[in-house]
Amino acid sequence: MDLYKEQEDVFKEKREEMVRRQIKSRGVKDPMVLDAMKIVPRHFFVPDQLLERAYDDTPLPIGEGQTISQPYIVSWMTELLKIKKDDAVLEIGTGSGYQAAVLCHIAKFVYSVECIPTLAAEAGERLAALGISNFQIVVGDGSKGYPEHAPYKAIIVTAGSPDIPPLLVQQLADGGRMVVPVGTSHIQELVLVERKKNEVRTRELGSCVFVPLVGEYGWKP
Ligand code: SAH
Repeated sequence: MDLYKEQEDVFKEKREEMVRRQIKSRGVKDPMVLDAMKIVPRHFFVPDQLLERAYDDTPLPIGEGQTISQPYIVSWMTELLKIKKDDAVLEIGTGSGYQAAVLCHIAKFVYSVECIPTLAAEAGERLAALGISNFQIVVGDGSKGYPEHAPYKAIIVTAGSPDIPPLLVQQLADGGRMVVPVGTSHIQELVLVERKKNEVRTRELGSCVFVPLVGEYGWKP
């Protein structure tokens, strides 16, 4: 049998186990999210030397001092956004492109902003190689959002911010939802921001650990 196919089968099994043991067991239920987590080949998004650990219950380094988030956190944040199939989503912090790939399986279109050009380029190549085309990766300071296509029904920030970035709240649509880790540069609280007309509600949902959001409304380098 073709060695490549055999390897893909092993990874598929590992993904199913990941969804069962790390994600469903912690309470994530949305079938669209569970499907996306079963489909997206996480091993494609980690450095070669970490291939064996791609489906572990942990974040992993991806170079440039950055990380690919823990699978459970990716699924939890995605579920919180309650994305509908016609929604456009804004992600801040493309990193490896893994979270963006998961979002692309659920949303109509994903705009993802990354401030490190090499990471942005590599992520774009990975998504294209997987045949994903409903995305645009933008190099820039995502702490200011991406006004070009605002407002967005869903915004996900995958880096830890000192405060809720004000321009991101402005770019949230009526009825839109944003998840953003807010806290120190070492530990944050995951905050859900819901906008209804001009009323903005925030809720703290639990602690998490992300690399720092840098830039104008993030941490100063
Ligand atoms: N979502 C990623 C993980 C993100 S790690 C994944 O699935 O792999 C956080 C990323 O945010 C890093 O790549 C970092 O470079 C990026 N980042 C930090 N501050 C940023 C900013 N102001 N604008 C855009 N990207 C930023």
